[in-house]
Amino acid sequence: MRIIMEPGATLKELGRVITLIENKDYRPFIVKNGGSTTICVPAVDDKKIFAEIKALPKVKEVLPFSKPYRLVSREFSKNNTLINIDDVCIGGKELIIMAGPCAVESRPQLLESAKQVKQAGARILRGGAFKPRTSPYSFQGLKEEGLKILAEAREKFGLKIVTEVMSTEDVELVVKYTDIVQVGARNMQNFSLLGRLGKIEKPVLLKRGMMSTTEELLMSAEYIASNGNPNVILCERGIRTFERSTRNTLDISAVPALKEVSHLPVIVDPSHAAGSASYIEPLSLAAVAVGADGILIEVHPSPEEALCDGQQSLTFEAFKNMTKLLKGIAQVVGRSL
Ligand code: PEP
Ligand code: MN
Repeated sequence: MRIIMEPGATLKELGRVITLIENKDYRPFIVKNGGSTTICVPAVDDKKIFAEIKALPKVKEVLPFSKPYRLVSREFSKNNTLINIDDVCIGGKELIIMAGPCAVESRPQLLESAKQVKQAGARILRGGAFKPRTSPYSFQGLKEEGLKILAEAREKFGLKIVTEVMSTEDVELVVKYTDIVQVGARNMQNFSLLGRLGKIEKPVLLKRGMMSTTEELLMSAEYIASNGNPNVILCERGIRTFERSTRNTLDISAVPALKEVSHLPVIVDPSHAAGSASYIEPLSLAAVAVGADGILIEVHPSPEEALCDGQQSLTFEAFKNMTKLLKGIAQVVGRSL
């Protein structure tokens, strides 16, 4: 249920609506849309409650949601969500580049990566300390030691950091070190993890599951938002199709499709989509052209020696050249870099 208040509604009139909702044990979410206020009660579809609220003063309209996702929809908020982390704003005019190795492997590897990506224009450093690997015998990440190295790189180079959390039991630890918490594709529908991330104070980068629709991605974002955390960044990272020339198929149309129905920022990870370094540049240019708010790129000081995803990691040189090209496209679509 969405409650649209009359533009002149006072705090007292808003308060009456909110009290009625809370007395029924529902949680209201409030947003300003231009001159008027919208109160969203995502869990309520009951027409009797609609009528009860419609009778209160200064309630202009009480409307149902047309889609199963609600708080993350444009029906709730027309304005784009801006996620501010100090001087970094995700979802605004600036195109945000997030880059770094797939996994934090060592202090020198990460610090060198941080220095190079910063110089090339990245605002956010990526690096996994907890790695979801297909094989239990593959490198699983440095865990807390990796988080400490990431935090050191943040201080040293003035970058923000994003890193993955794989389970609810590690949320507290990861949140202590990182600026943005990543949910990997394999965990997109780990509903207990999503619920837990709804209770944290930091933004969540939510990757689309490789076999999930955009609607399912939005429903996962809704789990985080409905548990209290509105700061979710959606990430298209390729889906599984019959096509075998790339690791996954980058669903480029997901960007405008998500933006049309949701106010959340949308970024693209061409590295995991393509699975091959040679496609990263063209796919990144395409992502910016279709309106992505940022890109997430894997780079490595020496890709052939990487412990994880080396085949899709850019060298520093290739990354730097790519960011120069991105500037041109960013300008054409009215964004800065
Ligand atoms: C990653 O970002 O390193 C990663 C594991 O990505 P995904 O969850 O998209 O596979
Ligand atoms: Mn990776």
